[in-house]
Amino acid sequence: MKTSRPIQVRIRPAAIRENYLLARRTAAGSRAWAVIKANAYGHGQWRAVEALREVADGFALLECENAVALREAGICQPILLLEGIFSSRDVRAVVEHDISTVIHCPEQLELLLKTAPADAALSVFLKLNTGMNRLGFTAADLPAALARLRKRPHMPVTLMTHFAEADGARGVTEQLQRFDTMCGNWSGPVTLANSAAILRHPQTHRDWVRPGIMMYGASPFADVSAESLGLKPTMSFESRLIGIQTLAAGDRVGYGGTFVAERPMRIGIVACGYADGYPRHAPTGTPIAVSGRLTRTIGRVSMDMLTCDITDIPDASIDAPVTLWGQGTAGTVAADDVATAAGTIAYELFCALAPRVPVTVEAK
Ligand SMILES: *Cc1c(COP(=O)(O)O)cnc(C)c1O
Repeated sequence: MKTSRPIQVRIRPAAIRENYLLARRTAAGSRAWAVIKANAYGHGQWRAVEALREVADGFALLECENAVALREAGICQPILLLEGIFSSRDVRAVVEHDISTVIHCPEQLELLLKTAPADAALSVFLKLNTGMNRLGFTAADLPAALARLRKRPHMPVTLMTHFAEADGARGVTEQLQRFDTMCGNWSGPVTLANSAAILRHPQTHRDWVRPGIMMYGASPFADVSAESLGLKPTMSFESRLIGIQTLAAGDRVGYGGTFVAERPMRIGIVACGYADGYPRHAPTGTPIAVSGRLTRTIGRVSMDMLTCDITDIPDASIDAPVTLWGQGTAGTVAADDVATAAGTIAYELFCALAPRVPVTVEAK
């Protein structure tokens, strides 16, 4: 719904596409699943699908219903269910619509094989647990699973794992070794890499890569900016000042009075709060842009408003544009920097955007 409250999110489909193409150039020789789970990391599943329709090698998401909806919308590329099937209904749907599925445990394999007709054709992505200890077959369970699938020639297998620390100091070495050991003399296709591995660990590229966050213009690394990786912001979160206060030294701001002015100040009240998806934990000092100038938030974020320091932005008056994150009218603020200040990651900021925020989509 378009509202007159000035807050809005702007999505840039062209930037999503460019970032996807950057992932694919970085992993030249691999095909790339465009990961569009979680409503395309808050960008809108259909907006991402439209942006990528002409270029994506495949789409990866979680819900079978969404996969079927993509097929019904005419998407012809492979579609992969990242957590696999949850019910026999899902099995019938993946068979009917040629949707590829992860299979991550013996019980799920059993569900697939007992429900799918003997001649059912679909691609199976067997997920191996190589150390993340979330989903995946163990070394002990894998041979039996492979043996059962060898009897289903219409169910070609790709082996898959997921890295816990591709962005961190320990990297992928240990998990990669474990994966290669578990695979033995496997010569079929393999998919390993998330965004961090795509960008930092070329030895993980293999047959398919799985870019998520990098497509949405944020960095998978705490210590490397998205800009320096060549990623383009895909979402700008913007609002305006709806109030201005002048403080004397000693005045407090917001709930709990956690911010105390040390000197006379001018502060701006922004129409954006945690009910819009701005992180409540963002402390005083979180970056924010007003009228083309970078400044900082002050005090606690409340449900519908937050406060920023405009002492040094004398021309900022009521209605002045504000960029919460992204590349907006009021300036550019990296979502990663807001996330870091708030003790989280851009993934969470994007996914937490509230439905009440109106979204506009830039023309391609
Ligand atoms: C979400 C997800 C990805 C994408 O991860 P990013 O860090 O966003 O690139 C890749 N693989 C799997 C299995 C996932 O669930």
